[in-house]
Amino acid sequence: MSLSRNPAPPSGTAADTVHDRFGAAIAARLDELAAISDEPAVLTRLYLGPAHRRAADLVALWMRDAGMAVAMDGTASLIGRYEATTSGAPALVIGSHIDTVRNAGRFDGNLGVVTGLELVRALDRRGKRYPFAIEVVAFGDEEGVRFTSTLGGSRAMAGRFDAAILDERDGAGVSRREALELFGCDIAAIPRSARSAADTVGYVEVHIEQGPVLEAGDLAIGVVTAINGASRGIIELTGKAGHAGTTPMDLRRDALAAAAEIILAVERRARAEPELVATVGHIETPGGAGNTVPGKVQMTLDLRSPSDAHRKAVLEALEAEMRSIAGSRGVGCEIAMSYQAPAAPCDAALSARLAASAQRCGYPAGSLPSGAGHDAMAFRGILPFAMLFVRCRDGLSHHPDEYAAPDDIDVAARVLADFIDHLAT
Ligand SMILES: [Zn+2]
Repeated sequence: MSLSRNPAPPSGTAADTVHDRFGAAIAARLDELAAISDEPAVLTRLYLGPAHRRAADLVALWMRDAGMAVAMDGTASLIGRYEATTSGAPALVIGSHIDTVRNAGRFDGNLGVVTGLELVRALDRRGKRYPFAIEVVAFGDEEGVRFTSTLGGSRAMAGRFDAAILDERDGAGVSRREALELFGCDIAAIPRSARSAADTVGYVEVHIEQGPVLEAGDLAIGVVTAINGASRGIIELTGKAGHAGTTPMDLRRDALAAAAEIILAVERRARAEPELVATVGHIETPGGAGNTVPGKVQMTLDLRSPSDAHRKAVLEALEAEMRSIAGSRGVGCEIAMSYQAPAAPCDAALSARLAASAQRCGYPAGSLPSGAGHDAMAFRGILPFAMLFVRCRDGLSHHPDEYAAPDDIDVAARVLADFIDHLAT
């Protein structure tokens, strides 16, 4: 793959949109936001908590300063609107989230919000408007740390908010409904957050990759093909417990040895399948002891792919292989895949436009699926959406050492500026 380490952009392209240096300005705002935390010394900003309040207030201030009209919806999503040449025109929505995990990095989510904001500020400074409005949205409920369910804000915007989650309670017993009311949100207004293709051109999200693919390919940015679908479940293997000293090897039905063979089979199959990942991340031997032949094993299986058909086909093949391995060892094999989430393919036209913008700006973009979930996936089947990933150091995320270089952020911002500039044509 070719190098993209911030070559000089070709002159005379992308009209008047790419003369700004965005990277440093965005990084400075991310630093400022990172100081807003629920905990001292580390970054923890949970949905509807005190730090979320302060971060939303700061982002709202920035939005107004960037020439946007600011509103907060019934799920505490902050929406800044930069009007079109004709007021009331459909909007391009640029969004991500400002909540974080505990002890988080400063780029996850916040990057997408601040990038949109900085781009609009540059447009406002030049008095540049488009036939479509630009809305920058800061969702607050992406990480799913405080409450069980997640994407409340983006799901509301997609018109698929599930009112049942209002009764979810956090660790302190506070319900989502109470937390929203305390935050000043009008819960009755949540249905009014719903967007449609009539009022929204599309949704674009800039996000750090949270993985090592772009770095390995020496690419600053990548256009996301799809947010992976996932299958998750539990495999239970039942053999026969026995005395480790008295049970001869040929009379054993060792559930843990079967598990070992199965784990390697899972790895082998996933390695052979393009863009599919499979993980056994947790294993237990209930009642196990150092001097006992393991009679029972419970282990997890997590399978992800940008293609639902591919994921299902591989899962079926794996299930047959796991049963066959267990069967050959006289071990029972129960497979319960309780969680299935469909893949969310990015819009082909919007993604092609992002790739064309990258090309025009002189930065080759990779294309890759997203292994992690994002707000964008809430719009599956409702609005066209696209995502632009930014290389992050060591693929590290959800960690204080999370890092994206200002030069790479600058590339993403320039590409998005060009994308916006050409969207009107
Ligand atoms: Zn995120």
